[in-house]
Amino acid sequence: MRTAIYPGSFDPITNGHVDIVKRAAHLFDRVVVTVAVNTTKRPVFTLDERVAMVKEALAGATGVEVTAFEGLLVESARQHKAAALVRGLRAVSDFEYEFQIALMNRKLAGEIETVFLMPSEKFTYLSSSLIRELAQMKADVSEFVPPCVVRELRAKFG
Ligand code: ADP
Repeated sequence: MRTAIYPGSFDPITNGHVDIVKRAAHLFDRVVVTVAVNTTKRPVFTLDERVAMVKEALAGATGVEVTAFEGLLVESARQHKAAALVRGLRAVSDFEYEFQIALMNRKLAGEIETVFLMPSEKFTYLSSSLIRELAQMKADVSEFVPPCVVRELRAKFG
């Protein structure tokens, strides 16, 4: 049983995140999507809202579980017996930050490998922050996020 853990803020989950989860689910028996309780970015959605949207967006995806994590990610990975940490790479600009985190996580937990997956190119320009900005300005984001997120963005921003 090979488990991967996919952490993020998911503020909110986008079709790019969903694409990465699906790719990870092809590679691993079990994918634990875990939503960060503490994020340096001040989230627009509460933890419960972010978790609920991830759950709804991924309902029916086999081998996928959704949880939240607090504190050290590698500790949470160990608790879930994860062999790998999954992160998405959209562009070279993601690389430097991700490389630093991956090497620090390796230092903290050498037995857990970080695996980078690339989304379909149509999602490479998508980010949660861009979606939030568009939604605040009442743009239609239904092409970029799951239907439950469209609904929640409308509820939040009108
Ligand atoms: P974090 O705050 O941890 O960066 P995010 O929710 O923004 O959390 O992203 C979680 C992971 O998903 C990161 O590895 C990020 O690079 C990746 N990701 C974000 N948007 C996309 C996208 N459009 N396509 C693929 N991966 C993405």
